[in-house]
Amino acid sequence: MNAFEALGLDIPFINAINDLGFTQPSEVQEKAIPLLLNSSEDLVALAQTGTGKTAAFGFPMLQNIDVNSRTTQGLILSPTRELCLQITNELGLYGKYLKGLNVTAIYGGASITDQASKVKKGAQIIVATPGRMKDMINRKMVDISKIEYAVLDEADEMLNMGFYEDINDILSYTPQDKSTWLFSATMPKEVATIAKKFMYQPNEITVGHKNVGSEQVSHEYYLVGSRDRYLALKRLADANPDIFSVIFCRTKRDTQKIAEKLIEDGYNAGALHGDLSQNQRDMVMKSFRNKQIQMLVATDVAARGIDVDDITHVINYQLPDEIETYTHRSGRTGRAGKTGISMVIITKSEQRKIKAIERIIQKSFTKKRFPDGDEICRVQLMSLANKIHDTEINHDIDNYLNDLNALYEDTSKEELIKKIFSVEFTRFSNYYKNAKDLNNVSSGPESTGNEKSVRFFINVGKKDGYDWMSLKDFLKAILELGKDDVFKVDVKDSFSFFNTDEKFATKVLEFFQDFKYNGRFVNVEISENPESRKKRRKSSRGTKVNPRDRKSNRSKSLSQRPRRSRRR
Ligand code: AMP
Repeated sequence: MNAFEALGLDIPFINAINDLGFTQPSEVQEKAIPLLLNSSEDLVALAQTGTGKTAAFGFPMLQNIDVNSRTTQGLILSPTRELCLQITNELGLYGKYLKGLNVTAIYGGASITDQASKVKKGAQIIVATPGRMKDMINRKMVDISKIEYAVLDEADEMLNMGFYEDINDILSYTPQDKSTWLFSATMPKEVATIAKKFMYQPNEITVGHKNVGSEQVSHEYYLVGSRDRYLALKRLADANPDIFSVIFCRTKRDTQKIAEKLIEDGYNAGALHGDLSQNQRDMVMKSFRNKQIQMLVATDVAARGIDVDDITHVINYQLPDEIETYTHRSGRTGRAGKTGISMVIITKSEQRKIKAIERIIQKSFTKKRFPDGDEICRVQLMSLANKIHDTEINHDIDNYLNDLNALYEDTSKEELIKKIFSVEFTRFSNYYKNAKDLNNVSSGPESTGNEKSVRFFINVGKKDGYDWMSLKDFLKAILELGKDDVFKVDVKDSFSFFNTDEKFATKVLEFFQDFKYNGRFVNVEISENPESRKKRRKSSRGTKVNPRDRKSNRSKSLSQRPRRSRRR
């Protein structure tokens, strides 16, 4: 008797399991399957994605339903369309030897009539997102009044997404005496409340912290100044040339912005968030699965359905608002027996959150330092060297060999190697020659990102046709500064302010000593940092500052500085 038979599964399922190549039940399967097969009691299971939980509730449900009946007997609610499809697909595989099995997925963004007609053909199991399910109940396209099993999958996530009311309504159409099985990666108060409300003395199992997923994942954090998050992300990507990762941002806007920046900077990146159409999301996921996208920047909600097994890194560009969500994020890697790394980019003030997460995941984080430019260049060079070394020779090149030999007749092997590597390597080495040391996070109070920057006043503004974006571009171009080197550009009518890193201060001042624009000299001077101005204003005992006074303060502070003489 194999281990799955020992759990009580029948031959058609054992055969399907053999086809799938599962050799041992996972922990959640070991605990849940016998329980669900043999009793009609409710169940609360703490288990995250990647632990085999779909099979844990899927097999008992499939074994207990009557496939000869066309009545809907099982309802599985899950938070996203992707997850819905994934569960439907898995159930199809688990029940492949059940003649007459009909598992139907119901989710938004696809034809409701097609879904209704599939249900009508006799769906014994419906896998649904709450929104669409409610819609179909209202339109009397489904009948769940005779179900025997209800599964709330990823319950914490459904609640995060605001589905409480929908779940409440949907369950009110189901019989009292059904069995309810709730699966959740975390157990915030809201999930416990749902369990209490909809379930009767449920059995409880926890595989939470000992599941296959998180055992395989190591956790690291990198401390940065708040303005250096993006640079940090790039550095982590550069230090891991074969990275295949999901990068989590907090908002859809940040997700889109970071993905765009990465693409602009030459990375294979893509964005996945709720503002994209279903078609766009499908395309992004296809490119990610094909590894055309190496860095998938995603919101928590959109990433729920990612069923890709070989993700090497999860990068928390920002920590989630709810620290419990970290478990979901890190569970995207370290799946199917592979190891994975979950990285967190944090600022000093967020550091305490690490402790809280450690308590939840019951694992320690390693505080890491960013590799320096030399290390990154070395990693990149060796990665390229290995790729070239392992590349299979394409003999179509033989046709051109004479021409190539003629071209390189006088080039030694060493020279040729250097030239080949320079093609890729120069870009990195140039970038990292002057790259900032990200490990140098100030040890004082929380970094506002301003301490090391200088604020400038410039007598060019809206009247000269600039907005913040065009002025930023203009400054970057004339000063020959990098993409992120000019920031906090604040354009007023006839003057503006901007910041640069303090290392560029001299360069900026020198450049503008004799710079003419539309025939007049442009005046650039060091101004006051808005943070310190804010602080000072606050400390002026709440007295409202007359804008006029403020203006005169500014001119005063400017005039107090020694005037620089113009070269011409
Ligand atoms: P889940 O946690 O349900 O999302 O499952 C994660 C992945 O593990 C799916 O691709 C399953 O097909 C696979 N899986 C489930 N149970 C087992 C098992 N006992 N052995 C190996 N893989 C499994």
